[in-house]
Amino acid sequence: MHVLVLNAGSATLKFQVVRTDAERIAANADDVLARGTIERIGGEAVITVRGPEGVASKRTAALRDMRAAVEWVVGWVTSGEAHTGLTSRADLHAVGHRVVHGGERFSRSVRVTPDVARAIEEMIEFAPLHNPHNLAGIQAAQRALGDGVPQVAVFDTAFHQTLAEHAFLYAIPYPLYRRHGVRRYGFHGTSHRSVAYRYRHLTGTERVDVRIITLHLGNGCSACAIVGGESIDTSMGFTPLEGLVMGTRSGDIDPAVLDYIATKEGLSLPQVEALLNSQSGLLGISGLTNDMRDLLAEAREHDDRRAKLAIRMFCWRARKYVGAYLAAMGGADAIVFAGGIGENAPEIRAEICDGMEWAGLVVDPSANDALTGGKAGRFSTDDSRLAAWVVPTDEELLIARDTCRVVGGT
Ligand code: ADP
Repeated sequence: MHVLVLNAGSATLKFQVVRTDAERIAANADDVLARGTIERIGGEAVITVRGPEGVASKRTAALRDMRAAVEWVVGWVTSGEAHTGLTSRADLHAVGHRVVHGGERFSRSVRVTPDVARAIEEMIEFAPLHNPHNLAGIQAAQRALGDGVPQVAVFDTAFHQTLAEHAFLYAIPYPLYRRHGVRRYGFHGTSHRSVAYRYRHLTGTERVDVRIITLHLGNGCSACAIVGGESIDTSMGFTPLEGLVMGTRSGDIDPAVLDYIATKEGLSLPQVEALLNSQSGLLGISGLTNDMRDLLAEAREHDDRRAKLAIRMFCWRARKYVGAYLAAMGGADAIVFAGGIGENAPEIRAEICDGMEWAGLVVDPSANDALTGGKAGRFSTDDSRLAAWVVPTDEELLIARDTCRVVGGT
């Protein structure tokens, strides 16, 4: 079947068309027929597309809202120009949507019914920056393709619904959890799951034997402790703000700081929260950029003190989480890196793994340096007790496969 995968953000829409079915999934032989990104929806949108040969081309189009953007995507992927082999809308058999928040209700991917759409809407108060746009993507696809084409929601939180109560609760009055759902939900679940799944196949490990720590290091960053193939703890919390140092997010912070900053700087609490979300992390410390590639260049070429400090804090926090999870899990078989930074920055991986010989991890520097640009592989020495891997994440493929399974009823 042909699955259209949509990841709708505030002014962006990422899409793929994937050909998949039970046989292709079993043989790991799904095909990506087209992919692209639309940015600056709401005005003169910038569209970057790739056909099956992977050649990128850019263009602009006036796309006033998500509905217009999804219409454009459906039109393009079924036009001859995209070379997908799809010639009409009827060739799109299902749509898989990335949905950020599924609360406690969704522990797996589900077909979107009016009831599910209502639940996604109800969870807007947990994820006001994401769920409204995910829902807009669903409604736009329903309009473009009609009710006959099944839509499936794949939730970022679902993979972490296996956390035990002692891991997901905050140590605040219990009624706040009962009354308002204040707890750790965790995010990036589709990525952690995708990485764990690929790791399993690369190493020939059974699902129940997977005991790893996955580090998704992109603009957003999170760690996940996976035991028996299931998430038992993760660093993002009630929102994606908690945990690791990220591009523009602070990660862990003493909550008493919020009111203190608000008073000292004359800001409201929502303004302080916005500051922690969008002015902090690598950007806040360096004062330069949230982009790790640029920070590494600054550190290398200009020996910039704050760029180096931001990098050091990023790695220090990640290493602390690895240590905490090793203790919580009673040891692991591997640390697995993914995301734009995890997949492309050997110097960051080396610094996070530095001094981990006590845990049985010894990095092979040349193997580490060779793993960039989407390559998967191990970069610890053969005799390391704790292995280190790079396993590129493929969230879109997982969304396509989940969609296929849900629609097929398997
Ligand atoms: P998102 O979380 O938005 O999906 P990505 O996973 O693409 O983002 O990660 C973006 C981050 O990856 C940026 O900080 C970027 O600088 C970093 N990155 C990408 N390529 C490299 C590279 N070659 N070296 C270092 N960092 C890189």
